[in-house]
Amino acid sequence: MEEISPLAVARRQLDMAAEKLNLDPNIHAILREPARVMEVNFPVRMDDGSVRVFKGYRAQHNNAIGPAKGGIRFHPQVTLEEVKALSMWMTFKCGVLGLPYGGGKGGVVVDPRTLSKGELERLSRAYISAISPIIGPEQDIPAPDVNTNPQIMAWMMDEFSKVKGGVTYPGVVTGKPIIVGGSLGRSEATGRGCVIIIREAAKRLGIDLTKATAVIQGLGNVGGATARFLAREGVKIIAILEIDGGIYNENGIDPEDLLAYREKTGTITTYPGCRPISNEDFFALECDILVPAALENQITPANAPGIKAKILAEAANGPTTPEADEILAEKGVFLTPDILTNAGGVTVSYFEWVQNIMHYYWTVDEVNARLEQMMVEAFACIYRMSQEYKVGMRMAAYMYSISRLAEAIKVRGWA
Ligand code: GLU
Repeated sequence: MEEISPLAVARRQLDMAAEKLNLDPNIHAILREPARVMEVNFPVRMDDGSVRVFKGYRAQHNNAIGPAKGGIRFHPQVTLEEVKALSMWMTFKCGVLGLPYGGGKGGVVVDPRTLSKGELERLSRAYISAISPIIGPEQDIPAPDVNTNPQIMAWMMDEFSKVKGGVTYPGVVTGKPIIVGGSLGRSEATGRGCVIIIREAAKRLGIDLTKATAVIQGLGNVGGATARFLAREGVKIIAILEIDGGIYNENGIDPEDLLAYREKTGTITTYPGCRPISNEDFFALECDILVPAALENQITPANAPGIKAKILAEAANGPTTPEADEILAEKGVFLTPDILTNAGGVTVSYFEWVQNIMHYYWTVDEVNARLEQMMVEAFACIYRMSQEYKVGMRMAAYMYSISRLAEAIKVRGWA
């Protein structure tokens, strides 16, 4: 089967929504490309004294509504095309939640597991210094993404502040540790938001979460938090798939215990009481909720026909190809799209940035209550739109977000 790139997927999704909206072709053309991309190649001193040159990117898709916003990933498979696609999805995601941002995304081609802590710090600093001319609290605000975390954000904020002459700029990145201007609730916000969306979807479909089962692909920051919040809602998690293998237990897996086990052993595959499950069997499991929380292009025409879940909640960015979307729609799977489902992260990033600007910090209850309210409202708005226009949730989310963007682009006089 032909490999379809994330950028091709993002453009297809945009094109389909543009057609439905009868979008002005000039606005459509603006949205098909990121406004700005930067490629950087920067040296890092390794522990053995040698120097390695790493490649990184930053894409800023659009700033019609506000500065670019979006994470930075460290992954060996990062490409310019991927970063461009991810920056497009960020624009549409911010639009769905009504955040005053456009989309951005960055990446470095590296397997961070091969680096020592010192090498990781030097790489993080060198990358942010290289892209420093185009980022800043009013211009483009990075955040964590795949394989990056609060410590890395702290190094990046520190380095940017040094490059800019020693004034501390807490608002240049979000997802920082609390002590240097991070927001309470940010690290688990994406998972918390995913579960709010799953809960809202379950209500509409008449699914009782305390009797529901879920399977989760990926146990990183997002997958791990989603698993924990789902379990708190009473959902039984029966399978988890990770890069090094999958595990299944029909009686349910306790995510807290599993995460503690992985912390100790470095893997989930040997977790007691479970049997191994292949990638293929995982996607075909009988369950209520399927949560892809790993990388792009995981649900394709190869595995979509076998999916039995009632709700597919996209915690990852771009996990489903457009062909798979069609298959799932025919099967009646209720898909909650990435640009809505995983928007809890960037929403609390927005709260963090606001707190940095105000120098006034909120309690965790305030953060969670505002997140809850915004996610519930966004779900209701997209659901209403999907009913009204008789389209799926992804199409409705794109239509809503692009309409707002089109209005901003028009009034600013770009098209
Ligand atoms: N990387 C996350 C995402 O894809 C969060 C971005 C942010 O907080 O700016 O939504």
